[in-house]
Amino acid sequence: MSNDPSTTILVVGGGIAGVSAAVEAAEVGFDVVLVEREASLGGRVARLNRYFPKLCHPACGLEINYQRLRNNPRVRVITMAEVAAIEGQVGDYRISLSTRPRYVTPACTACGDCSRAAESEVADAFNYGLSKVPAAYLPESQAYPLRYVIAPEIIGTPEAAAIKDACRYGAVDLDEQPGSIELAAGAVIWATGWRPYDASRIEAYGYGRLANVITNVEMERLAAPEGPTQGRILRPSDGAEAKRVALIQCAGSRDVNHLPYCSRICCMASFKHAAYVREQYADASVDIYYIDIRADNKLEAFYRRAADDDQIRLIKSKPGAIEEDADKNPVVKGEDTLSRELYGNAYDLVVLAVGMQPNAALDAPPLALSQDDYGFIVPELDRGQIAAGVAAGPLDVSMSVQSATAAALRAIQALQGARQVAAE
Ligand SMILES: Cc1cc2nc3c(=O)[nH]c(=O)nc-3n(C[C@H](O)[C@H](O)[C@H](O)COP(=O)(O)OP(=O)(O)OC[C@H]3O[C@@H](n4cnc5c(N)ncnc54)[C@H](O)[C@@H]3O)c2cc1C
Repeated sequence: MSNDPSTTILVVGGGIAGVSAAVEAAEVGFDVVLVEREASLGGRVARLNRYFPKLCHPACGLEINYQRLRNNPRVRVITMAEVAAIEGQVGDYRISLSTRPRYVTPACTACGDCSRAAESEVADAFNYGLSKVPAAYLPESQAYPLRYVIAPEIIGTPEAAAIKDACRYGAVDLDEQPGSIELAAGAVIWATGWRPYDASRIEAYGYGRLANVITNVEMERLAAPEGPTQGRILRPSDGAEAKRVALIQCAGSRDVNHLPYCSRICCMASFKHAAYVREQYADASVDIYYIDIRADNKLEAFYRRAADDDQIRLIKSKPGAIEEDADKNPVVKGEDTLSRELYGNAYDLVVLAVGMQPNAALDAPPLALSQDDYGFIVPELDRGQIAAGVAAGPLDVSMSVQSATAAALRAIQALQGARQVAAE
């Protein structure tokens, strides 16, 4: 693959938006470098249990794109890397990437011998730290690239040496160091996505303090067959079945003290979570506390399905506090906005529907980019700086994919514009 900046697009972030933008641009003949800071692609979508509106497995959307990546020699995928510096102008950017060691080379066949040789465990980031994995691990079962990682914590120990010895393919390189890669590109698509708002900042809701208060992203992993509980929705405190569940909307969202905007997807995500609980336990009940329900046009039917279920109750109220009783049941307290009655309802599990905060709001991009008040990136076509997916605004998966296709087209237009200017 050439590295001619006039025909190369850099895509930063390998979630559904970045992967989609990369394959779209490559399939019309442009060279693409796709940079992902984690050990595998897929971003947050890979960590969903199922996704609305059809409740299909995330592999439905990701696998087809991985196939397109595999078949396209024009895309170079670089994982465990971030953009450290970027200089230049549209049509001619010089980029410096910093890379972290994986300690496992492309010779890895994903046989798993290294993992079996590991003695210690580390927190499983894929499961948001709700479980542990051996110190030599596959980032997730569908990982792209399908290659193990060795936890940096054990480098230099006898355990690391034993893991190296266990690899029949000589694919463990314990001497790998942090490095850098220099490259050139004419336009950049920022698809750096989001992270869940830090729920511990909403002090009255007790996240991090009350064992049975979790977030919506954690609920996705609890319900996932490959998650920390093998898909069983259980209380973290004692492993009991969670059959009385409260879902609290706008936890930190539409709130000037936290995220002032609406993330657009949380209402739908919570209806999905209610469906997870109801499918699992026929006698379960779910209360959804909401300010108002925001089900985007095409998703109205999905909302109705939940609203018509007698065992799902919609309570119009923004709870004031969550406390804990002697049995570690979280007790949600507040006032019902419609009846004006005060309530104090005990549950097995409370799920906080936290919003999506753009990564670019918290990790300063290595180049001055135009960003709105919340940190979402505003595209600058004349500079060839474009945003896709949730980096550009709170979007669901289908809207992220649409925005990625548009971003690929804009990047191509920026390259063509720069070529025209250079030719004049
Ligand atoms: C609880 C919850 C449930 C949801 N369920 C659904 C659903 O059912 N259906 C639906 O349509 N949508 C759902 N969504 C929304 C969906 O998750 C987003 O639309 C989707 O994640 C957007 O993808 P993205 O690629 O823009 O961002 P991300 O998924 O965040 O991917 C961004 C990628 O960029 C990488 N990255 C970040 N910074 C850098 C950097 N500096 N350098 C290199 N790489 C970087 C990240 O590691 C990540 O891999 C849900 C959201 C939440 C909160």
